[in-house]
Amino acid sequence: MKKIYISADMEGVSGIVNFAQTGMGDKEYERARNLMADEVNAAIEGALAAGVTEVLVNDAHGSMRNLLHEKLNPVAQLISGSPKPLSMMQGIDEGCDAAFFIGYHAQAGAMYGVLNHVYSGRVYSVALNGRLVGEFGLNAALAGHFGVPVILVTGDDTLVAEARSILQDVETVAVKHAYGMRAARCLAPRRVHDLIREAATRAVQKGGVPFVVAPPITLTVSFQQSIHAEMAELVPGSRRVDGRTVEFVHDDMPTLYRAWRAMVGLAGLVDE
Ligand SMILES: [Zn+2]
Repeated sequence: MKKIYISADMEGVSGIVNFAQTGMGDKEYERARNLMADEVNAAIEGALAAGVTEVLVNDAHGSMRNLLHEKLNPVAQLISGSPKPLSMMQGIDEGCDAAFFIGYHAQAGAMYGVLNHVYSGRVYSVALNGRLVGEFGLNAALAGHFGVPVILVTGDDTLVAEARSILQDVETVAVKHAYGMRAARCLAPRRVHDLIREAATRAVQKGGVPFVVAPPITLTVSFQQSIHAEMAELVPGSRRVDGRTVEFVHDDMPTLYRAWRAMVGLAGLVDE
């Protein structure tokens, strides 16, 4: 295994328990972005120890300008900024052997999942072929389309359970124990970095199986309010299922992913 792809989010980093820590301009943001970079670096170090020679890191949180280039291990190339065509998964189609998801969080509505959501607070639930998924499932399915297995995932214990329900053999690190949406018992950063480094090495040595969703794939998105669904159903080819729900069926996962992003983007236009 030569080239690793890392999709790096922030809500699942140890020490982070509130959205008031994760946005540019927030008082604790500088600390949070450093904690995020440190976990990404630990994953990179673990991969390098197992013989990986190339690492592509995609900043996948909010503005997607959280990771400071100069803080990352120099082997890594950083995809920074937003919007980008594949969003949280930009670069996954550039010939990577396997993927790590670092700092990920549980799907919307998860019991105890710290800062659980799927892309946007306007989204109530997302399903692929009837199975509820969060960002982990959606992004793993896109990686699967390109033949890339997700072999390491880190976040709170709720996210770890969610990931293992989809990919039984994936290496995981629970960096915090969730007590609720805004509270967790957090492992110390130094301990977390050791665990991530070791898990990354194991993951690269072990490999994994891509998560491939069998076509035709039905994407079902329910929104918090009917007005969000009214906007989402403007996506050509989508179908309104009920007041808050829109469906989109396609054989091609990247096309579904684009439809999903278009729905979320359109739904975001109507809030006061
Ligand atoms: Zn995020």
